[in-house]
Amino acid sequence: MERLRLVSRDNQTRDTVVQVGDINIGGGSKVYIAGPCSVEDEEQIREIALAIKGSAHILRGGVYKPRTSPYSFQGLGQEGLSLLRQAGRLVGLPIVTEVMSESEVEMVADSVDMLQIGARNMQNYALLRKVGAQQKPVLLKRGVAATLEELLFSAEYILAGGNSQVVLCERGIRTFSHTFTRNTLDISAVPILKHLTHLPVVVDPSHGSGDWNLIEPLAKAAMAAGADGLMIEVHSRPDQALSDGPQSLKPEKYRALIEKIRRLVSLLEEEKSQ
Ligand code: PEP
Ligand code: MN
Repeated sequence: MERLRLVSRDNQTRDTVVQVGDINIGGGSKVYIAGPCSVEDEEQIREIALAIKGSAHILRGGVYKPRTSPYSFQGLGQEGLSLLRQAGRLVGLPIVTEVMSESEVEMVADSVDMLQIGARNMQNYALLRKVGAQQKPVLLKRGVAATLEELLFSAEYILAGGNSQVVLCERGIRTFSHTFTRNTLDISAVPILKHLTHLPVVVDPSHGSGDWNLIEPLAKAAMAAGADGLMIEVHSRPDQALSDGPQSLKPEKYRALIEKIRRLVSLLEEEKSQ
């Protein structure tokens, strides 16, 4: 196989710091991304944005949803984009949303602070080239059956296109173990990626487990393993969510979790400095 070039630590030893609005990701600062799986309506995204603003740096919300079934809620599209944008402005947080198609990259990039490439599109090379040819930062999620080399080569496409603002996201992979979890969160991916690349690495324990009960232990494990941050799904009424309710934390649980995570991160930093 070809060698990794631009994304490799051999090419750049210092950590890349990705700037999303006025938030830095990587280089030691931890980032917490939160919000609903899908933007559902004005009130829903507003309520969640207000509830998380003190404990999140970036507001997430899907408006183009890659759903397994064509009969499931597909997202609000452009209307959702403007609701997400309004909510972000209201609380002063930058926003991230998934872009699924090449033809929508420019339009979505004009409205958001960061573009997400979802797990299902990690190897959509035309889409990777397209986000590489524009300047908005990219959150690149690992494919469900992708090796770490494949993830890094997908990031390489974006950097090779001229965009060095890429954050990698471990979000769980397919394994034989499916009785209690939707995916198996690959914690070892974190230290391995941090060793191989200078790009920041965040972890999504929501898709990584499929179960809100597992988010706290997995989030702690991710930070202990050296992650640069977390992406967590939050919904005020998970039982009524149009997507991913079972893996969504209620805002008060999310806030309490982030407080614990911040304490854990200071302990880890203290230990590192000894
Ligand atoms: C998401 O973050 O909304 C999402 C669809 O995640 P993934 O691409 O990891 O399944
Ligand atoms: Mn989701």
